[in-house]
Amino acid sequence: MNKKYIYLSAILLMFVVTACNYTNKTNGSSGVANVAVDTKGSAGVKQTKNTAAQIYAKQEVPVLCYHRISDGTKSDYRVSQATFTSHMKILSDSGYHSISPAQLYNYLVYNKTLPEKPVMITFDDSRVEHALIAAPVMEKFGFKGVFFIMTITYNKKNYMTTEQIAGLAKAGHTIGLHSWDHTMVTKYKDPTDWLKQVAEPKTKLEKIVGKPVEYWAYPNGVFDHKGAEELSKYFKLSFSLSTKRDSILPLQTVRRIIVSECSQQGLLKAMHRSFGKK
Ligand SMILES: [Zn+2]
Repeated sequence: MNKKYIYLSAILLMFVVTACNYTNKTNGSSGVANVAVDTKGSAGVKQTKNTAAQIYAKQEVPVLCYHRISDGTKSDYRVSQATFTSHMKILSDSGYHSISPAQLYNYLVYNKTLPEKPVMITFDDSRVEHALIAAPVMEKFGFKGVFFIMTITYNKKNYMTTEQIAGLAKAGHTIGLHSWDHTMVTKYKDPTDWLKQVAEPKTKLEKIVGKPVEYWAYPNGVFDHKGAEELSKYFKLSFSLSTKRDSILPLQTVRRIIVSECSQQGLLKAMHRSFGKK
């Protein structure tokens, strides 16, 4: 074996190891270009963002979507308090770590490392039990949640007050927007719709929580490419439900699964089925 060959092999090996460390299961070739230019930590050097194709190719993180947490008529949009607690317990017992949308964004865009067994726990529709039940239960297990607020419900019966929403933000949970009145994005036809459903409620919500609102959940999970493109002007990430992502706009079509009344094993199975390794 000549010297030149050994030298080349060493360089190649170094490159492969670095790519694996950084890209964490991205597809090799597209991840490499990014690694080569990502000068992690160097002051003054702008980090390179992953391309849409690189983001789309990354391993997805399981994102759970809860609605009501109360006893009552069986529905896809409700789990009992006991079931919710059992879900948090099995996630904790199985070694899952809750992550924030900011962590997910940095993983998808900059290949930042996530904790082992990451999961995101989200809540739609601003229900009062999110503050009264979900947050205290999650805190018991060391989890943080993401609460998507439909702002027409401020201070209404069965929905969170503005103080409760601010309290969740203060406790380290993330507050996102879920439109003004739950009208689907595909129905926003002119600029006044966008103002009413997105721009104005975003500003109001930011005043309540005292920080930027950078994440969106689609009412009914429904989106189209045009809507997702428009939302990218307002939000770092937008969350849908289990429909296929838009490969051009993966950051604006992050998948979630609705969690309904199910056993602990049922929850873990659903997570694996929807977000299992590629
Ligand atoms: Zn909703």
